Amino acid sequence: MKEIILVIGASGQIGNELTQSLRVLYGNNNVIASDIREGGKEMMVSGPFEIIDATDKETILKVVKKYKVSQIYLLAAMLSATAEKFPQKGWDLNMNSLLNVLDLAKEKHIKQVYWPSSIAVFGPSSPKLNTPQKTIMEPSTVYGISKISGEFWCNYYHEKFGVDVRSLRYPGIISWKTQPGGGTTDYAVDIYFKAIEEGKLECFLSKNTRLPMMYMNDAVAATIKIMQAKPSEVKIRTSYNLSAMDFTPKEIASEIKKHFPNFEITYKPDFRQEIADSWPSSLNDSEARKDWGWQHKYDLTSMTEDILENLSTKK
Ligand code: NAD
Repeated sequence: MKEIILVIGASGQIGNELTQSLRVLYGNNNVIASDIREGGKEMMVSGPFEIIDATDKETILKVVKKYKVSQIYLLAAMLSATAEKFPQKGWDLNMNSLLNVLDLAKEKHIKQVYWPSSIAVFGPSSPKLNTPQKTIMEPSTVYGISKISGEFWCNYYHEKFGVDVRSLRYPGIISWKTQPGGGTTDYAVDIYFKAIEEGKLECFLSKNTRLPMMYMNDAVAATIKIMQAKPSEVKIRTSYNLSAMDFTPKEIASEIKKHFPNFEITYKPDFRQEIADSWPSSLNDSEARKDWGWQHKYDLTSMTEDILENLSTKK
């Protein structure tokens, strides 16, 4: 059966690239991009785009009916660092947008929902290394509280109303096409741009802060893979741990120095250090690998080579 997909939050770091991959897979006109603001040029010209406020259920429904949408990928959210500055706004956006989309699925306007969670569901009392799927989860950020609540709403709608909602706990996502939108792992994107443009970076996290990370190509592949899995393979309906690599600012800087030997990194931790300290250093994603065959492709070395090659030719 033909899928018509609506991506909400398509102009952001992940939405921009996910929308393009979905258009290649399902056909340009079958993937409707939407956001409260316009996105990158490639996305804007390659297929339909609608302005949608994810907190406004009626507008989403109008677009769903206009295009006969069967699946929604909900990516609109306020990220960790920004939500600490605007807690009420972060909570309202992250919760209301999700409940709107889950309700549309419950009311049978759409068949399937994708919504990303985050490693921010874990907190200072969770095990730091190889953090398991199920463990103590006491998040200490507004963003983390919204993500863990969202996970339980997803599970509730699945159990009570049969809603086919699927979710991944993304680690920090690293990309070179689109800038990140206010997260705690943004330094790991910025570092590549700064290496090429200025040869140095002042990092807002301390040098030995280890966090789980993933290249955008792998994040997009995982997202499409879980959405295409058979319903019976998706056994966890809160959200799956998802992992590829973990590193510290010092380690990513050493990798960059292999290509730019004069690259310099200095450290000036700010309020984001406390958020990073509350998160896992590495994640155990064996359930995702077992249930629906997740396999990552990129590690720190291959990701760095790919990003620097792409950024150098883009210049
Ligand atoms: P982003 O901030 O880059 O993009 C979010 C998009 O949502 C933006 O384009 C913004 O304009 C849009 N938006 C904001 N308010 C809106 C509203 N009311 N209606 C419609 N659109 C609205 O974020 P991202 O990094 O692309 O993240 C996408 C999803 O992945 C989020 O749920 C985020 O929590 C999750 N996630 C991201 C990362 C990461 O490293 N990027 C890690 C873990 C989880």
